[in-house]
Amino acid sequence: MTAKRLDGKALAAQKRQILKKQVVERIEQGLPPPGLAVVLIGDNPASQVYVRHKRNACAEVGILSKAYDLPENTSQEALLALLDQLNEDAEIDGILVQLPLPAHIETELVIERIVPHKDVDGFHPYNVGRLTLHVPLLLPCTSKAVMTLLAQTGVNLMGLDAVVVGQSNIAGRPITLELLEANCTVTGCHKYTRDLADKVRHADIVVAAVGKPHLIAGDWIKPGAIVIDVGINRLDDGRLVGDVDFAAAQHASWITPVPGGVGPMTVVSLLENTLQAAQDDGLPR
Ligand code: NAP
Repeated sequence: MTAKRLDGKALAAQKRQILKKQVVERIEQGLPPPGLAVVLIGDNPASQVYVRHKRNACAEVGILSKAYDLPENTSQEALLALLDQLNEDAEIDGILVQLPLPAHIETELVIERIVPHKDVDGFHPYNVGRLTLHVPLLLPCTSKAVMTLLAQTGVNLMGLDAVVVGQSNIAGRPITLELLEANCTVTGCHKYTRDLADKVRHADIVVAAVGKPHLIAGDWIKPGAIVIDVGINRLDDGRLVGDVDFAAAQHASWITPVPGGVGPMTVVSLLENTLQAAQDDGLPR
């Protein structure tokens, strides 16, 4: 079997066109454009690239993005004070603080300072709690991207066996929760998991979110399984690869490429969340 590619880059381009129309309609109704504050602390090169992509995507669809680029030595108090100000800012519907933060800043404190209805990354305990309790509101962007890509396959997910490798708060854990929400039977794997190969071999859906190149061998994949590779790893020769050896494409029915799979869809999820935050009266205020 040769897997069909789940082209996240192309799907993200289509989704941005839809979002652009929705923003235009909103402005035609006399409403302001959705506003996103993007806060970047320090000069981590990877974070700078991610933030640039997010800001460019906002510009493309007509979302107002306000940049807050702060030096590495910004104090925790100064960052929290900025968040208090953005929480009150009527032009701002969504607040994104690019992670990771410098070591002297407590990430949980920062995430919890953002009011839940502006938490467009979906990391606030309120939004994670809503997802856990089957009443999701603002969804974490990476898990939303994974679910959108799975929906694109047209496969009925109900009852399928899913294995999620990696259980971080920003990727693996919310993906596990969303797959449960989709009525899959989910196994959450992490670095203490015994016999990972055996878990993967039995999975109808494999989602890898670890950050280790080729951790998952191609021949572990059950014939016909769907493979979603969240991992982004740069090799010494400069190439970007995922966590799954792409030889998996010989066994899977669908597979996401890296780059061009989950990454562009994660950015689109952020834009969708920002529009939702601007217009959804159901969000707590
Ligand atoms: P992270 O915070 O380092 O978490 C990695 C997770 O993998 C942890 O749960 C860890 O287990 C687990 N793990 C480590 N070694 C393992 C092993 N040998 N077997 C099984 N599990 C193992 O990383 P992250 O932020 O979730 O990111 C993971 C990858 O996804 C990175 O490559 C990142 O660049 C990428 N990413 C991509 C997107 C996107 O939009 N495409 C978004 C977010 C992240 P413990 O919990 O036991 O430590």
